[in-house]
Parts: sequence; C-alpha cells; structure tokens
Amino acid sequence: MNILFFGPNGSGKGTQGAILKGKYNLPHVESGAIFRENISKGTSLGAQAKAYIDKGDLVPDEITIPMILDRLQQEDCKKGWLLDGFPRNRNQAVKLQESLTKAGLALNIVVEILLDRELAKNRIMGRRLCVNDNNHPNNIYIDAIKPNGDKCRVCDGDLKTRSDDQDEDAINKRHAIYYDSETGTLASAYYFRDLAKNEGKIKYITLDGTPGVKDVTNELVSKL
Ligand code: FE
Repeated sequence: MNILFFGPNGSGKGTQGAILKGKYNLPHVESGAIFRENISKGTSLGAQAKAYIDKGDLVPDEITIPMILDRLQQEDCKKGWLLDGFPRNRNQAVKLQESLTKAGLALNIVVEILLDRELAKNRIMGRRLCVNDNNHPNNIYIDAIKPNGDKCRVCDGDLKTRSDDQDEDAINKRHAIYYDSETGTLASAYYFRDLAKNEGKIKYITLDGTPGVKDVTNELVSKL
C-alpha cells in the first residue's frame, strides 16, 4: 500500500499517520524528516539542500524529489509507505507523479482530510499541554477533550500553551498555502483526485476531519 496523505495543520494528519504506521506497519515518510536526515548524514543531495536552506531559500524540486524517491526505495518501504508533507503545489504534484511512475513506485491511495479552515486554526490555537503528562490531550475547541475549567481533564494538572500554537500569523501563512486550490497544496491534492477519476489507478479517499480521532481513524480504515 503506497499512500499519500493530505490535510491542513490542525486536522490531525500527523496523528492519523502515526496510527496507520502502527496498524499496517508502514513507514511514515515525512518530507521535513527526509531533509534533516540527508543533511545530518551529509549526502550529496543533503549538502545541496543545506546550501539553499542556509540562504533562506526554498529547496528546488530537483533536489527534493530525488531525496523522497531515495527514501521510498529503502528496504523498509518495500511493503508500502505513507508519504506526508509533499507535494505542496500543483507543479510538484505533477513532477512527483512522473518520478514515482518512472521509478516503478506507483501511488495506490491518496487521502485528503477535509476540515474547514477556521476550525483547523481553532484546533491549533485551542491545544493545551498538561504540565504533568504530554499524553493528556486537552483542547478548548474540541468537546471530547475539553479541559476541566482551566485544568487538565485527565489529572487536574495545570495547563499551558505552546508558543508555536499561538502564532496566528504563522498558522495563517501555512493555511494560505494549504487551502489554495488554484496553485497550493489543495491544487496538488486535486491533481491526484483528477488522476483517480480519469485513470482509475489511484484511489482517492476523503475523510471528514471534524469528529474525534477514533472516528476519523475508523472512517479511514473502512475506506482503505
Ligand atoms: Fe494531565
């Protein structure tokens, strides 16, 4: 099963990816991690990418795509993989699809988590961290895990916020790229949706991201 995953920040994409990884024993291939790995290992592609990153420039697709392909050809990906974080625009989607086909790594399934933009932002800004345990989920905008007043709903511990989660400008910037269905990330998802419609080799799955984690997982598993 070769899966490509789309979903805005705040949609629970990372959580669902981790669940799939555990359930089907698929490596969760995340584009940011691939950059970091290539740079830390000092690969030729990593060195080229670092030169762009150090200048504050975007790493060109000519470097990113070969890095991703290299990762998808490693031993642990032989039985399938779950790719996340790339492509982010339509052009990258076209090039990725071309490269995957050429390398014999055909995509089987594309998953898109649907979540209203305002809701996605609230979910990020509503996250609260329990000072006693990171695994005590609290979110003031999600009924199922709403804190108990201003205390952790699990252990009654104090809650704090993460500064990244409260950076509204940064969230808006990331969401502007994601929700741009003309040229942004949604445009790349729709490229695959059209491919699925026209060629039938790819299965395109949409998931309602509004319910709780378990419901989203159940919908995903039932549609795979
Ligand atoms: Fe707690």
